[in-house]
Amino acid sequence: MSDCLFCRIVAGEIPADVVLRTDEMVAFRDISPQAPVHVLVIPVEHHANVAELSAKAPQLTAKLLDAAAAVAAQEGLGDQFRLVFNTGAEVGQSVFHVHGHVLGGRDFTWPPG
Ligand code: AMP
Repeated sequence: MSDCLFCRIVAGEIPADVVLRTDEMVAFRDISPQAPVHVLVIPVEHHANVAELSAKAPQLTAKLLDAAAAVAAQEGLGDQFRLVFNTGAEVGQSVFHVHGHVLGGRDFTWPPG
């Protein structure tokens, strides 16, 4: 989709700090990081959100989760990371190409511990 920001990043039309790329997945650093590690993991194939992805392409959903875990390990987070899929504008989704936010490197517990 030529009007999709993340499709354009996949195509290399918009620069991004890519940390992982396979035939099916791309991961790149969030432009406005909310944690020391904040990487977005997306499938190359366009789907609007994780609900649509899981309904239409369950195997790709599993691969997206695998890629998120691989990015966390690659970034030195081990198995301590937060994975967020905002789904819908009312909860803050602003780019409608499914993306998992891999977040880590700071305390996310409440109260902070
Ligand atoms: P969401 O609000 O869940 O849709 O997340 C979209 C994310 O994309 C936000 O955290 C933005 O900071 C991030 N973002 C927007 N444009 C870019 C870009 N050009 N490169 C990297 N991250 C971006």
